[in-house]
Amino acid sequence: MKQTDYDLIIVGGGMVGASLACALKNTPLNIAIIEAFVLNSDQQPSYDDRGIALAYGSQIIFEAMGLWSQLAPHCTAIKDIHVSDRGHFGITRLSAQVEQVPALGQIITAREMGQVFHHALTQQNNLDVICPNSVTSLIQHSDSVELTLDDDRHISAKLIVAADGGQSTIRQLLGLGALESDYQQTAITANITPERAHQNRAFERFTDSGPIALLPMSDNRCSLVWTVTAGDEKDILKLSDSDFLTQLQERFGYRLGKLIRVGQRNNYPLKLMQADQPVQHRIVLIGNAAHSLHPIAGQGFNLGLRDVAALADVLIDHCEDCGDAHLLNDYKQWRQQDQDNVIKSTDSLVKLFSNNQPLLGHCRGAGLALIDVLPPVKHWLAKKSMGLGRKQPRLGRGISL
Ligand SMILES: Cc1cc2nc3c(=O)[nH]c(=O)nc-3n(C[C@H](O)[C@H](O)[C@H](O)COP(=O)(O)OP(=O)(O)OC[C@H]3O[C@@H](n4cnc5c(N)ncnc54)[C@H](O)[C@@H]3O)c2cc1C
Repeated sequence: MKQTDYDLIIVGGGMVGASLACALKNTPLNIAIIEAFVLNSDQQPSYDDRGIALAYGSQIIFEAMGLWSQLAPHCTAIKDIHVSDRGHFGITRLSAQVEQVPALGQIITAREMGQVFHHALTQQNNLDVICPNSVTSLIQHSDSVELTLDDDRHISAKLIVAADGGQSTIRQLLGLGALESDYQQTAITANITPERAHQNRAFERFTDSGPIALLPMSDNRCSLVWTVTAGDEKDILKLSDSDFLTQLQERFGYRLGKLIRVGQRNNYPLKLMQADQPVQHRIVLIGNAAHSLHPIAGQGFNLGLRDVAALADVLIDHCEDCGDAHLLNDYKQWRQQDQDNVIKSTDSLVKLFSNNQPLLGHCRGAGLALIDVLPPVKHWLAKKSMGLGRKQPRLGRGISL
């Protein structure tokens, strides 16, 4: 085989790319990660202050990677989830106690996760971090892929993993098509302090303009994801803190008492994107580069992390030629169903709860009330939200996973 500079080059050091590098730390693979921004700097957009809900399944993956002990001190456990629909009767409650698990999930800010990844990456012997640099072109050869960077450097590897986010340069350079659907919605995020203790409860409240999630965090703060119709965010972001809290309170209600403080607000346009062919000759797209989701169910990173775990699992056994087509095909087949299911169920949830037809509103309310009194359905729902009940990566088999 032709000599390459690296076995594996990961393009993108966001949450998904960094997780993959960490997952492969104790392997013979010679790895580089290319990131457009200085790692762990304020400029890197992936690691802002939004709260990320980690499903229980993601905790298990991080435990296998040896990273959970560093992440755990920054996490707040979700013990209960409370789902309601504004203006309609009917609620559904999920409980860790009922499911007999320590927590249904954990909340950590993207920034804190970034700090843990950064520390882990700097300790890793088989990894070169190339940043701030971005990829400008690529050439696929039979046994390697050659990348050109923005400083005209050329580097090659047997396998390229594109973890370069929703606007993936690698996807564009390959000319890959994608299924795209603009939800015409924007997510506004901020950290909120309510009057009452959140008691580790997460709230998902559906409203006529889109869902509101309040997730428990440290110091009795809650991480807010408030989805509004695209365009409406402009006026909402301009509001004074007290007017912002009044509007939010009006839509969320008083389950946490009065909402008394709001931190910095950010906003994200929301769309669905699923790349047509995420596995190409010696190239794999993972995370947001392969599929960007609406944050309604907090599944985007959890899905990306399951891509990471599966890919690491197949790579670990094939260090000699990690870009081998059979191996990438194994990965593709393994991940296809989970990706399709999560993408479809998230999209259906957005459409179901963004529809303001009165009849549908009553049906939703009745559905939530019905789920609440049907323990098997609740158990199934809880397993899905915990990221369990799927074919899990064979965590014990690999070297690092
Ligand atoms: C409001 C909101 C709330 C969310 N909440 C949750 C949640 O609770 N739970 C959950 O699981 N998910 C959640 N998500 C989804 C989650 O944020 C994403 O799934 C996750 O950030 C995707 O990570 P990524 O590494 O694939 O992409 P990104 O975070 O976009 O990272 C891509 C990286 O690649 C770099 N890059 C880009 N182009 C290049 C290039 N050409 N060369 C080199 N580097 C490049 C970028 O600088 C960046 O660092 C939420 C999303 C939003 C918007």
